[in-house]
Amino acid sequence: MAVKLIDYAAMPLEKLYAAFRTCYSAETPAEIWEKIRAEKIGHDQIRKFIAERLKTGHASPLEQVVFWFAISNVSRSLSHQFVRHRIGISFEQQSQRYVKFKENKLAYVLPESWSRAGLAGEYEELTAKISALYARALAAGVPAEDARFVLPNAAPTNFHVMVNFAEMLHICDLRLCVRAQWEIRRMVALMRAEIKKVLPEIALYLQPKCGEHRMGYCDESLEDWRKCPLGKVRPHKSVLFDLYNLYGSQKVRALSEREFSAVEEKEQL
Ligand SMILES: Cc1cc2nc3c(=O)[nH]c(=O)nc-3n(C[C@H](O)[C@H](O)[C@H](O)COP(=O)(O)OP(=O)(O)OC[C@H]3O[C@@H](n4cnc5c(N)ncnc54)[C@H](O)[C@@H]3O)c2cc1C
Repeated sequence: MAVKLIDYAAMPLEKLYAAFRTCYSAETPAEIWEKIRAEKIGHDQIRKFIAERLKTGHASPLEQVVFWFAISNVSRSLSHQFVRHRIGISFEQQSQRYVKFKENKLAYVLPESWSRAGLAGEYEELTAKISALYARALAAGVPAEDARFVLPNAAPTNFHVMVNFAEMLHICDLRLCVRAQWEIRRMVALMRAEIKKVLPEIALYLQPKCGEHRMGYCDESLEDWRKCPLGKVRPHKSVLFDLYNLYGSQKVRALSEREFSAVEEKEQL
């Protein structure tokens, strides 16, 4: 697998600053940008302001920071999962209709679990047979869009992806969690590493959902949390409820209609 950050929209931190600042300032966005360009607002001030805003739930400005990635040699098994993300991300994927793969170029993704199980040899024998049949089908005039029916989930594919920072955070929440499948987890970890090289200030926030900059706790099942290597350093939600019950002024309980009224400001509790 190869993951490369091809590009990102220019002046991402400044864009984030100006987007957030527009919401909280009497100045127009053009006036804010004049100050940024005239360096009346220093780099440190921009970083500090963004760091404070990122602690809040005001997330829509994060959609104004955009990344482009080149991703290659991932499996179709991964791609089925990746393309389920539908907001703030745009994909172009290598076609099995327009691309006729050369028999000897079909290098299937081999999960390590097959090698550990001592079945890598049989896996490779089967994929070699599939490649040979695929090549015979093409040679016999079967169109590529039909020949591909024999290709397995292990077949390799490539992506050109555009994704904004808000969606990248969400993808990391889900796919850096050990509940996600290993290959997509590895790919997302590489995407994070690429962003970290150029924008460490915001890459900091790219964490699994239990990370200290995200939800901070695990909302998966207690059983999964117990198995997770991060479970040693991140709490499970049930632990938080137990603590609330121990030290909170009241016990955790279901919301009553009275509390809904309080939310609607009809009644003071
Ligand atoms: C561990 C794991 C196991 C999974 N297992 C399965 C499985 O067994 N079967 C299966 O089919 N899928 C499975 N999925 C995929 C999952 O159901 C989602 O399709 C995938 O995580 C991407 O969906 P998203 O809602 O996060 O999309 P995104 O596009 O990444 O969503 C971005 C944000 O927008 C919100 N959003 C997106 N669309 C809408 C909408 N129409 N209305 C309101 N809010 C919206 C999302 O809730 C999210 O907050 C699994 C995912 C994970 C991480």
